[in-house]
Amino acid sequence: MELYTEEALVLDVRDLADADRIVTYLTRSHGKKEGVAQGSRRKHSRFAGQLQPLARVSVTWAEKPGRELTRISSVEMIRSAHRIQEDLDGIFLAAYLAEQAAEFVQENESGELYFRLLDSTIEALLAGVQKPLAARYYETWVLRLAGIFPPPEECPVCGRPLESRAVLPASGEALVCGECGGSGAGTLVVGEAVLAFLAHASRRPLTELAADPPSPAVLGRVEEVCARVRRAFLQRELRSYVVMERTLRQLSEL
Ligand SMILES: [Zn+2]
Repeated sequence: MELYTEEALVLDVRDLADADRIVTYLTRSHGKKEGVAQGSRRKHSRFAGQLQPLARVSVTWAEKPGRELTRISSVEMIRSAHRIQEDLDGIFLAAYLAEQAAEFVQENESGELYFRLLDSTIEALLAGVQKPLAARYYETWVLRLAGIFPPPEECPVCGRPLESRAVLPASGEALVCGECGGSGAGTLVVGEAVLAFLAHASRRPLTELAADPPSPAVLGRVEEVCARVRRAFLQRELRSYVVMERTLRQLSEL
């Protein structure tokens, strides 16, 4: 049995039996981990109040070689993300950010880049950066770190620069030039403002983009592109994204 203490971001907390919870957490150097917090559902548990989604915490855990599930012995709050989750949009966004990290970070690999991305996104949200902008910035970066969505500089098929227009074919794998992308059913045309946002997002911190944010229409198109690239890669949609879309649609119909 080996013992570790590290800073982590809480990604998910699920009830397990009567008294325990399973916690998914993102560490800097051990990637994604899943552990049991024994007794954490009890009233006067030592974990009380510490296991909040997206909280930055110091976790101490023990693990046995060959076992996936760790045993969490303590969790100490460093920074709560509670304020982001005070409304429905915030609750959905938190689940969506966390699920992407849980999906793309591997276990026992360094999670440093994803940790920094998620941590700085939470920090920016706490500082008041708009949620849609933070969500788009984060999702482009998650795909970029996964190596499946490079900044759109040139067409990956013919090498032409992508300056004012690009096309996402129905297969949704990559942004290509108009010549290579065709115009068949399901192709998504992306204009200059979207390409500019993707280029800026790859070079500038979120807080800097927030000083001069793109229009909701541009952010909407970025969301569409990212969702399609992600679906093409995962071959399914993220659960949190499905729930978020469905609920917001139902609310708009009330
Ligand atoms: Zn091309």
